[in-house]
Amino acid sequence: MHPFDQAVSLASEALAGLRETASGPLPRASREALQRLVRAPRAAAPQPPAAASTPEASKAEQLAALRERLLPCARCPQLAGTRSHVVFGVGNPEAELMFVGEAPGADEDAQGEPFVGRAGQLLTKIIQAMGFQREDVYIANVLKCRPDMPPGSTGNRKPSPEEMAVCLPYLIEQINIIRPRCLVALGSTAMEGLMGEPVVMRAVRGHWHTFKGIPLMATYHPAYLLRNQSLSEKRKVWEDMLLVLEKLGRPITAKQRGYFLQK
Ligand code: URA
Repeated sequence: MHPFDQAVSLASEALAGLRETASGPLPRASREALQRLVRAPRAAAPQPPAAASTPEASKAEQLAALRERLLPCARCPQLAGTRSHVVFGVGNPEAELMFVGEAPGADEDAQGEPFVGRAGQLLTKIIQAMGFQREDVYIANVLKCRPDMPPGSTGNRKPSPEEMAVCLPYLIEQINIIRPRCLVALGSTAMEGLMGEPVVMRAVRGHWHTFKGIPLMATYHPAYLLRNQSLSEKRKVWEDMLLVLEKLGRPITAKQRGYFLQK
């Protein structure tokens, strides 16, 4: 990491620490000052050694090295200043199936792991219905930091296209290390982050796309299924997952084929 970015990152982390522990008002100019720093011209600086990404390094080692590089990231100063954790990704570095969400929410920011809230619990059930354990697959988001919210407000906001574009290179590095056989984009925002353009979920789901040479399926976000509990919407997601299982050459039982069909 460039020394400037490292300095910005350290300052951001110090601010985040202050925010957690301070009882009185915090300095007001800090965020603007950080943004000025980020925009300041940099002298050429040596890049970190790419030792861990040598062909001899295992996928787990390459992911660990990438994670170390990512943890102090402050490319989005406002997100770096408000996050509790960088939410890198979780799962099997050798996974043949990788799920991609949009961004961490409050639960994920607090725990440092993607998809651990209510939507995440539903994703885990979907993964298990497919015949996998959560640990068998890899789960990551386009954006690694929780989108900041106005102080005192609850809930989550969608990441902006600009925030996703800044963070996408990290996801691409994860994908290039893992090289899963299939990718699944969870929700239109994740799909937009990958494609770099707006998408309509009902148009993109149910058939194959390609991302960096890897077959990509888009489906509804589990949070959508929590809001819309109709059998027909669950079946659409399940049909997308059946296509994924077929692409992976996994066995599919008659019982699995019948999930969420109208009786
Ligand atoms: N929604 C996402 O897209 N990602 C998470 O990690 C959690 C909820």
